[in-house]
Amino acid sequence: MVQIYSKLPGIGPSIFSVMTQMANEHKAINLSQGFPDFDCAPELLELVKKSYESGYNQYAPMPGLLELREQIAAKVNRLHGADYHPDHEVTVTAGGTQAIFTAISAFVQANDEVIIFEPAYDCYAPAVKAMGGMVKYMPLNPPDFAIDWTQVQKLTNGNTRMIIINSPHNPTGMVWNEEDLQQLQKITRNTNILILSDEVYEHLIFDEKKHLSLAKYPELKERSLIVASFGKLFHTTGWKMGYCLAPEALMKEFRKIHQFMVFSVNTPMQHAIAEYLKEKENFEDLGILFQEKRDYFRKLISGSRFQLMDCHGSYFQLLSYQDISEEPDTDFAASLVKEHGVASIPVSAFYSKNTDHHLLRFCFAKKEATLEKAAVALMKV
Ligand code: GLN
Repeated sequence: MVQIYSKLPGIGPSIFSVMTQMANEHKAINLSQGFPDFDCAPELLELVKKSYESGYNQYAPMPGLLELREQIAAKVNRLHGADYHPDHEVTVTAGGTQAIFTAISAFVQANDEVIIFEPAYDCYAPAVKAMGGMVKYMPLNPPDFAIDWTQVQKLTNGNTRMIIINSPHNPTGMVWNEEDLQQLQKITRNTNILILSDEVYEHLIFDEKKHLSLAKYPELKERSLIVASFGKLFHTTGWKMGYCLAPEALMKEFRKIHQFMVFSVNTPMQHAIAEYLKEKENFEDLGILFQEKRDYFRKLISGSRFQLMDCHGSYFQLLSYQDISEEPDTDFAASLVKEHGVASIPVSAFYSKNTDHHLLRFCFAKKEATLEKAAVALMKV
């Protein structure tokens, strides 16, 4: 029998796959995995169809179609006043996750340390570990999941290669403020620390808050790789389309890995998205749409025994069940599926060590009817 030395011992199917499968098995309303249950704009579908039929069916250039990179650079410039050169500083990826894995593999070497704030989206730490890097976890605690910058400072040392950040934040819906950015700037100044900024929920931001992209801060921009997602932008998570922005020197390394990992991504989609972006000046309608959904979901369950946590961005609402049960969150989430027909994500899945704040994450990127059905069930818990 061949001996296998796993690079990722102890890692099983992701919590998103597990809960979605459980939801399907029990025909539960699936508010677990984050994806909309409504479709994208019909004009975009038309453009995709046109693209396939026009014969755009062979490899795209390795970094992505130039027209699309130009549209991305123009969008980032309009929104954040930042310049990224389409030739050398923008790369189209197969979704946010690929961009994140590529960025980590391009820069993290054996024994490098990477700081991750947790709860954290599940793909960061495994990528670091697969590269032989070491994760230093910085815990964020309810109710506000605010960042203790003195602690972050203590975690950094000469071996710190990267800090991974994510605002608006999955799973908490927390959004970074100006002070956080200033602190990050202070901590990384005169170091070789790179920043990987997962900004896939950039437009899903509420309550008059503004998304503070690292692209806006010249000193941070210089050391940052920024990841964005067309899945979140167009309600097309299954298309697996996204992009990465970085200054030329960083992007050069990113592309070395990208070209051997995927070479290039879906050509017809790139044509369609490039065309579509030409017509789309801004994405403020997204923030409005999802704020309405957040408010509607919160209103529907406001009399329930769950406690609503704050949510300022992303499409996730955390609910505390501490007044309902003392069960571990994975057990509580499973019984919610089996007995009440609603699937969510237990927040302990976003922590490296046993950390259970009795919180569940619900995705509200759903039709009103779906949220209403889920709320009827949640009100009975
Ligand atoms: N980003 C999605 C979420 O947080 C999940 C994507 C996935 O299943 N990998 O739910």
